[in-house]
Amino acid sequence: MEKVILIKYGELTTKKGNRNFFVKTLTKNIENKLQDYNIEIEKDLSRMYIHYNEIDEKDIISKIHQIFGIHSYHIAYVTNSDMESIKNELIKTIKLEEFKTFKVEVKRSDKTFPKTSMELSPIFGSIVLKNKDNIKVDVNNPDTIIHIEIRKDHTYIYYNAYPGLGGYPSTIQGKGLLMLSGGIDSPVAGFLAMKRGIKIEAVYFEAIPHTSLEAREKVITLVNKLKVYTNDIKLYIVPFTKIQEEIYKKVSPNYVITIMRRMMYRIMENLCKKNNAKVIINGESIGQVASQTLNSMYVINNVTNIPVIRPVACLDKLEIIDIAKKIDTYETSILPYEDCCTVFVPKHPIINPTLEETIKEEEKIDYEKILQETIDNTFIYKEKNDYENIL
Ligand code: ATP
Ligand code: MG
Repeated sequence: MEKVILIKYGELTTKKGNRNFFVKTLTKNIENKLQDYNIEIEKDLSRMYIHYNEIDEKDIISKIHQIFGIHSYHIAYVTNSDMESIKNELIKTIKLEEFKTFKVEVKRSDKTFPKTSMELSPIFGSIVLKNKDNIKVDVNNPDTIIHIEIRKDHTYIYYNAYPGLGGYPSTIQGKGLLMLSGGIDSPVAGFLAMKRGIKIEAVYFEAIPHTSLEAREKVITLVNKLKVYTNDIKLYIVPFTKIQEEIYKKVSPNYVITIMRRMMYRIMENLCKKNNAKVIINGESIGQVASQTLNSMYVINNVTNIPVIRPVACLDKLEIIDIAKKIDTYETSILPYEDCCTVFVPKHPIINPTLEETIKEEEKIDYEKILQETIDNTFIYKEKNDYENIL
């Protein structure tokens, strides 16, 4: 019996004007993800059908769960679109399924088919009743809904519905730069941004020797975990030591974090402009730490006009952890290596900074030159210790 994976797009079909582009991008992403398998994709503007070898079914399904833009999928039996073929396929396939109660839902997109959906449902229902023992119809709460979709070339029969990842196909939007620390929040923020179709590139600020190479490795591992959901993610590493030491030396301890984060945002803005990224993404969550009160966010955000997307801003820590576990970043995030923010954390970071006071503190350092130097020394991480300067 021939089977296909039938894919429903869900949310993207609501964007009528862009539908073609969405389907094209999703197709490309699926082809990339399944490049090791012998598959064939048939598609139209509301459905996609993946033909595959039975032996690969389990592997392919596990990969389907990693692709954004899929609302749900079904494993469907395929037959010809004539009454006799449909009946035969139905009789054969109900024997393979376990259920006590059922209802039939017929969708007839081929309007030349001689009977309407309304007429067909009871006909197929009685075929099912005649050919399987101890079952009955339950239209309100059936064990199984038997879907029969009649299209011009083929008819699809399926008994299951599995949820996909949802969202928009990866990279359908423009580019955003993700501030990726080794913590729990920022990988989740990156995942959620990708789910909206944003193509992300990651930026990691490190303060060697105050932070270790293990901390960097942790971020690299996180990037690799996020890559599962997209094709590739570039990682920029920003050598942040000099600016941090300067801040630590000259600024009042309670303003150290506020000013350090303003410096990060300035560097982010520069990297965004240079790399044609339209937004900054980070893992800030309202109220979680002193630098994430509304007053802090206001003062820190004040240095840039580039939109800052904070996907986890309104989630509880437990909700964030829940997602981190689902996307398999949690175990890496809780490894105990120091981050550049934690190394320099003062005893009493200011919770409600003012802009005036912050600017006064910031004037104590001559940061323009150091920032430029930091940006000039930022590099793109490449595997096998092969580094590329971004300039
Ligand atoms: P996380 O769990 O993601 O580390 P956090 O709760 O520890 O977040 P902060 O350390 O205040 O919060 O950082 C807030 C956000 O700023 C992070 O989620 C991340 O997006 C960004 N950030 C912090 N430190 C770094 C860093 N070293 N490199 C890149 N981005 C960073
Ligand atoms: Mg952190």
